[in-house]
Amino acid sequence: MNAGLWFTQLTAWQVMAVGLAFFGALYLLGGWGMTALTRMLARRQVGKVLDTRALQPDQLPREWRQSAMSVLLFGTGMVVPWGLLQLGWAQLAPTASAARVAAEIVVLMVWNDVHFWLNHRLLHAKALVRFHGDHHRSYVTTPWSTYSFHPLEALMLGNIILLPMLVHDFYFWSLAAVPVLSLVLNVIGHSNYDFFPRVSDTHPLAASRRHHLHHARSRGNYGFALAFMDQLMRTQLQAPAPRSTGSTGSSGSSGSAKTPEGRR
Ligand SMILES: [Zn+2]
Ligand SMILES: [Zn+2]
Repeated sequence: MNAGLWFTQLTAWQVMAVGLAFFGALYLLGGWGMTALTRMLARRQVGKVLDTRALQPDQLPREWRQSAMSVLLFGTGMVVPWGLLQLGWAQLAPTASAARVAAEIVVLMVWNDVHFWLNHRLLHAKALVRFHGDHHRSYVTTPWSTYSFHPLEALMLGNIILLPMLVHDFYFWSLAAVPVLSLVLNVIGHSNYDFFPRVSDTHPLAASRRHHLHHARSRGNYGFALAFMDQLMRTQLQAPAPRSTGSTGSSGSSGSAKTPEGRR
């Protein structure tokens, strides 16, 4: 059966169950996969760890707890695009060529960067920064920081495909690719690992360096996988992040050692 047809014929409860299984599996695979990959690369001295300071004692349990809530919201939230289809406010293309699917995915991923920058910048505004603080409690990021944020942030970031669905009839697999690619890119961003130390800070392959710098300084570099939104909006950070003193949080010269409140 056509996957889009299968999805629209599910009941609301089935959609939420499928969504929970989908986002739960994505998060576990992404977290474990990136942890294993960075350990393997570090052993082979390919690339380098960005910040070697120790994690806070309660960091991983907190990240898992907050992430479980995000998985719950993202998973059950799949009922929203399903609802748009039921109401006829959005429709899926019944078939699509490979070229069309590729073009749709490119457009959706560019939109993903625009959408993320806008919401992330809003989350750093005075009224919302206290909610975003949940994410910034991870000074040294881990792959498990990826979904570790306040439920309000999950709702803001999780609605990425809704607006595109209202203006274009996407193929089912183009839409399904968004959370998968987004998770992969987001896990890279929080990997605390510089995979390609020789590329420039604005290079697409330097996304983890850019987001590491955002967590270290908590201002600027609001973009997601690419640098273009920060370049356009003049919010890119230039200074190097503190890297690996192996001791306290007072390393570096870029304002990294303040309290969390001072850094948001
Ligand atoms: Zn982050
Ligand atoms: Zn932030």
